[in-house]
Amino acid sequence: MQYCSTRGGVHGWDFQNVLFSGYAPDGGMFMPETIPSISPATLRSWCSLSYQQLVCEVCSLFIPEQLIPKHDLEALVSSALSKFSVPDAVKMVRLKGSLSILELFHGKTLAFKDLAMTCTTRFLEYFLRKDNRRAIILVGTSGDTGGSAISSVCDLSAVDVVVVFPRGRISQVQERQMTTHIEDNVHVFAADGSSDEIDVPLRKLFADQDLVNRYGLMSLNSVNWSRILVQLAHFIYAYLQLSGVRDTDRDRLPALEVVVPTGGAGNITAGCIVKHMGVPLHLVAMVNSNDVVHRAVQSGDFSMADCVKQTLAPAIDIQDPYNMERVFWLLSGKDGALVKKMMEQFQDTHTLSIPETLHKKLCSVMCSGSVSDEGIMEAIKRCWEENQYLVCPHTAVGVWHHYHCPVRNGENRCCIATASPAKFLEVVQKAGLTESIDVPEAVRQLETKETRYKHLERNENWERALRERIEAIGSARQQGAQFYT
Ligand SMILES: *Cc1c(COP(=O)(O)O)cnc(C)c1O
Repeated sequence: MQYCSTRGGVHGWDFQNVLFSGYAPDGGMFMPETIPSISPATLRSWCSLSYQQLVCEVCSLFIPEQLIPKHDLEALVSSALSKFSVPDAVKMVRLKGSLSILELFHGKTLAFKDLAMTCTTRFLEYFLRKDNRRAIILVGTSGDTGGSAISSVCDLSAVDVVVVFPRGRISQVQERQMTTHIEDNVHVFAADGSSDEIDVPLRKLFADQDLVNRYGLMSLNSVNWSRILVQLAHFIYAYLQLSGVRDTDRDRLPALEVVVPTGGAGNITAGCIVKHMGVPLHLVAMVNSNDVVHRAVQSGDFSMADCVKQTLAPAIDIQDPYNMERVFWLLSGKDGALVKKMMEQFQDTHTLSIPETLHKKLCSVMCSGSVSDEGIMEAIKRCWEENQYLVCPHTAVGVWHHYHCPVRNGENRCCIATASPAKFLEVVQKAGLTESIDVPEAVRQLETKETRYKHLERNENWERALRERIEAIGSARQQGAQFYT
């Protein structure tokens, strides 16, 4: 199993090298050079697997035995998912009107990112230990990535994590899930600005090859292939549970609709890959008023708006759904030259008109929708009234689709629940449903915990402050293992 760049300039990398890289050296994103198919027989044989076993099966298709032997892989995934609050790490809930919700938020930080993040950081630690090396993870976050990265690595000895979040633009719970970590290897910065503004110094730091090499500096956002890889399992799991495939033995597999709240488009990319592997999914990418993906699907207009709009669903307040590059590559028949041309134009001008043949393919693999803040409130309230079931504002973006588009004949529908409503108490309160929520003990305790973070003021040089911290971590760790290069 080898990996290549979506822009055609890099081939033949192995999983370990891809895991420790962000973007490919030619500016593209890593994808498997060949994507295996899953036969109907294999799919049926997976029906009895637990979620955890399924993650192992899926990962072992893309991580060769020589890099991580199967029994090590099983141990890593098992340890990654052991701290989730439900027995099989995820939970399927069935509601009225043939709507099912796949709850992916039972990890430490109550968002779906915990699933792929805990597995990915275990893979990292595995390779670092084998080589007796260390790494520093640097992430900017629009809310959930930072907390998830911190909680996934705070008990790992070979990594430090530096997180920068936009102060005042994320929920109270999201903020406290980061600032209340006082472990020695956790470094949190609260910046006075938007996620886009945070991106600027981070890009500069990652572009500094000397710094990257000296400290094993790496990112853990969904540019990282491993995050996408683990997420393939969400879609296969939903399919096995809900499509009815276990009850038929016909050659023709039944289809399932999966509705995905979409931001950076990592999750919907995983869905597209699973579909490409032969699992008959109807994918629906749902966004809030930051609607680049929706416009791309509707009319081929892949262009950024002037600025990010702040909405009730902040984790998908994203301008640049960067994972769409992987989808374009897949749908273009792996045409690296075309993707390079398209994405370079998008980077330069922030606009792109998707070529017609590619746009046709995009429409054939997914539908899309865009939901306003009013729509989000409406879906939260209706779902509560009909089912006494509370959804988070991101999940509500998906559930809105359910209330406005009828299901196809004989087909089931699965909405992905990306976060727990307990993480967005401000929105729950706005919906007048505060009485209805069962706030987990861990969330209540956040209020009284000690905090530790550094404030980055507007007029400060953020790049310098972060660089200094990275260098300080470097000298503090010098006695121990070398950094990963
Ligand atoms: C990250 C996130 C999303 C968006 O996921 P992508 O894979 O980036 O599209 C949706 N909902 C929540 C709650 C998130 O944290």
